[in-house]
Amino acid sequence: MRYFTDISKVGALSASERASLQKVTEVYKFRANEYYLNLINWKDSSDPIRRTVIPNVRELEGWGTLDPSDEKTNYVCQGLQHKYRDTVLFLISNECESLCRYCFRKRIFNSGRNEAAIDYSSGINYIQNHREVKNVILSGGEPLLLSTKKIGKILKKLDSIPHLQSIRIGTKMPAFNPYRILKDPELLKLIRTYSDPRRRIYIITHFNHARELTEPSIEALNQLIRAGAILCNQTPILRGINDSAENLCTLMNLLTSVGNVPYYIFINRPTSGNKPFAVPIVKAFNIFSRAKAGMTGIAKRARMVMSHSSGKSEIVGISEDKIYLRYHQARALEDESKIMEYERDDEAYWIDELEECDELIGGSEGIYLSPEKLN
Ligand code: SF4
Repeated sequence: MRYFTDISKVGALSASERASLQKVTEVYKFRANEYYLNLINWKDSSDPIRRTVIPNVRELEGWGTLDPSDEKTNYVCQGLQHKYRDTVLFLISNECESLCRYCFRKRIFNSGRNEAAIDYSSGINYIQNHREVKNVILSGGEPLLLSTKKIGKILKKLDSIPHLQSIRIGTKMPAFNPYRILKDPELLKLIRTYSDPRRRIYIITHFNHARELTEPSIEALNQLIRAGAILCNQTPILRGINDSAENLCTLMNLLTSVGNVPYYIFINRPTSGNKPFAVPIVKAFNIFSRAKAGMTGIAKRARMVMSHSSGKSEIVGISEDKIYLRYHQARALEDESKIMEYERDDEAYWIDELEECDELIGGSEGIYLSPEKLN
């Protein structure tokens, strides 16, 4: 596969575009492979595939921070984040096949500081020694950029930990380069070996737009399913990429048809350089609600969430004047399932911009007002 890391070598762009985008890549790196660049409709300057990987001059507008979810507070050793009691996030790569312009973890490509695990043993020892950890998510960067041999060693170690209930691999490889999967029977053999009927390997993919689901991509997903993996997809909602009810609905239904069930739809975190892709919370929820009207029942299982430093909150409803969130997973155990009410603000992009109303408590059975409010 041929890779481009110098925007001036992308011949489909005009000379003036290359010159102006060069300034952007001095701040936020550029990398894209030939396969993905070939999916772009170069006649359309707003093409969603183009927006995904080709820099945008508006990235230089000041906005957000490089660590919007405060991930630096989650590390227990190099590469391993332990934010929620049951689940750890294991960063095993600090590179990606291509770089998404809206990446919330772009600091790992741009800061020169490696946050990913180096020899993997400290992270694996931590998981072994913490029986409360039930789930591990292999992430990065792109886990499937590691050699198959290295992935095999990591999976073998994780497979030997009896208290682990799920092993998940978060990857955009089926969208960026399905041939990484199609041309490596050893990788599929690994999935077959470790996707045990009692503890399946989950592959959490990252398709943003239906046009990424090409024939080779669909075949790569098919091979992963045949090897015994369970597939789920998560995507942020992104301005100019998938922020219309029609696009989102098409993506969700297509994913469901090919056996890759929609899981999370994220509100993009306020990350430096991401302003051109940001969609306000209310607008995003409206798009999602309208898209749902055309989705099959299974696709409707998708949840719209925000990954905040305090936990992952689902947007459960928006009324004329209020926004309701519920912790889907909270950093503090006492906040688990808590429902929060905020003043509606159609301009807000992130939880921290919202004004909180009376605290609500409650769980999956319904909304309960706090005792103080009832009195
Ligand atoms: S695949 Fe994920 S980690 Fe890699 S650049 Fe895209 S959003 Fe970031």
